Amino acid sequence: MGDPKGFLTTTRQEWPRRPVAERVGDWDEVYVPGALLPIVGPQADRCMDCGIPFCHDACPLGNLIPEWNDLVARDDWRAAADRLHATNNFPEFTGRLCPAPCESGCVLAINQPAVTIKNVEVAIADQAWERGFAGPRPPERLSGRRVAVVGSGPAGLAAAQQLTRTGHTVVVYEREDRIGGLLRYGIPEFKMTKDQLDRRLGQMRAEGTKFRPGVTVGIDVTRAELEARYDAVVLAVGATSWRELDVPGRELSGIVQAMEYLPAANRACDGDRAPSPLSAAGRHVVIVGGGDTGADCLGTAVREGAASVTQLDIHPLPESERDEVAEPWPVHPKIYRMSAAHEEAGELGSAPVAHADARLFSASTLRFTGDAQGRVRALHLVEVEPQDRRRPRTGTEQVLRADLVLLALGFTGPDPSGGLIGHPGPAVDRRGLVVRDADFATTVPGVFAAGDAARGQSLIVWAIAEGRSVAAAVDRYLTGRTGLPAPIAPDDRPATV
Ligand SMILES: Cc1cc2nc3c(=O)[nH]c(=O)nc-3n(C[C@H](O)[C@H](O)[C@H](O)COP(=O)(O)OP(=O)(O)OC[C@H]3O[C@@H](n4cnc5c(N)ncnc54)[C@H](O)[C@@H]3O)c2cc1C
Ligand code: SF4
Repeated sequence: MGDPKGFLTTTRQEWPRRPVAERVGDWDEVYVPGALLPIVGPQADRCMDCGIPFCHDACPLGNLIPEWNDLVARDDWRAAADRLHATNNFPEFTGRLCPAPCESGCVLAINQPAVTIKNVEVAIADQAWERGFAGPRPPERLSGRRVAVVGSGPAGLAAAQQLTRTGHTVVVYEREDRIGGLLRYGIPEFKMTKDQLDRRLGQMRAEGTKFRPGVTVGIDVTRAELEARYDAVVLAVGATSWRELDVPGRELSGIVQAMEYLPAANRACDGDRAPSPLSAAGRHVVIVGGGDTGADCLGTAVREGAASVTQLDIHPLPESERDEVAEPWPVHPKIYRMSAAHEEAGELGSAPVAHADARLFSASTLRFTGDAQGRVRALHLVEVEPQDRRRPRTGTEQVLRADLVLLALGFTGPDPSGGLIGHPGPAVDRRGLVVRDADFATTVPGVFAAGDAARGQSLIVWAIAEGRSVAAAVDRYLTGRTGLPAPIAPDDRPATV
């Protein structure tokens, strides 16, 4: 700890965002370039080195937060980068995208604003690249064992990097034309530009990981073929089966799933097809679903030039402060959070009928109505009781103009098509998630599962932790022992009361 009184003398200061009017005119990240480095040292120095760092436990990766806070405060970027990479393969992803449960568990957060842990993490990650501390780390010798990883999201990539570095020959199969999973085609550019992903993939290629994009396992190559060709298989296929909204009018054109809309926008940014065929430009957009995927749709629609954008959340407006009884420290609480996209929509007045930041709370969709051509034109909604989402409040029906409706209702589990999972392959549970034992092994010998496919819809930090842990399990299966770290067990979950 550079300054033992830092937490008393320095107030919390976050990486500033660019002005709304500027940032909605491009797809670059929302933060002011270069504005983090000058403030991050004193911010890291706010860490009290409290002795029992609950932030460790709150981070599924077990990131060594007080250690790298101290190193940043002392300007020792090399050591900080080493400590960070000791527990996290991709800190530039989590530093930009993680909701930072660690900050909810920060001891300082008991009675003061938490240390800006996520900002410190991304500063270290970016400095590691800039100063040349993040070069490839190829294995010293090869084991002669071959592993197939199916799916190239953060879980598959973390598993592949760990297994490659320990000497196994790893091939990553991906059904999309580009590698990256939701990092590539789900998460919009303004949250993380794709050059961050491409740079890591370059590192992984240099270490020896091989990538096979455009190959759907179960169709282009069967699971049985993979099992014959490889000594172990890791299924990291994500939870890509989306929830439907079964209300009258769902069949109208112009009602699409968020994960149809966002990939099209990401492809347009990548120069594949511009503008996106589903572009919101000039359209009245309603997003059904109050979560982060909905917020990503909101920021994307605003940038595409939508005429209006409203986001519906069936849950009531959350409290702005933690409920100390229901969700006491160090639990990550459900509170009112203002994402960059909500800030933009609020400032631009994108949704005149909604709450200040474009969200309508306690709102349940009743039906859609359309025009003679079968195109959606309006969404009919009703307010529901905060304690019972099935009970409408009389007299609260509203009609919103809608030419484009985006369904962001979450995901149920992995895609069951193609015979990759389910009978006669790896068993799935009632929800459709891949069943595994304490060693991440599925019901088929030599086949392991990690990430959203087995855990259910989650977060990037959990996916990376899953990838690291399954790699340790696979290494042990192949060699009888392992020195690889396993930060989580398959049934570990975030802390609750
Ligand atoms: C729009 C959106 C935004 C999000 N934003 C955030 C965020 O800001 N922060 C955060 O922490 N979390 C976020 N999440 C959640 C996070 O992205 C996921 O939890 C994480 O990506 C899961 O990683 P994964 O590796 O398990 O699966 P995925 O990232 O889903 O990757 C699975 C991959 O497997 C491939 N695949 C599937 N079947 C096959 C097959 N048969 N053959 C070959 N390949 C196959 C898929 O094409 C996909 O590329 C977001 C999710 C969504 C949908
Ligand atoms: S990965 Fe997420 S939880 Fe872990 S230290 Fe970074 S921001 Fe915090």
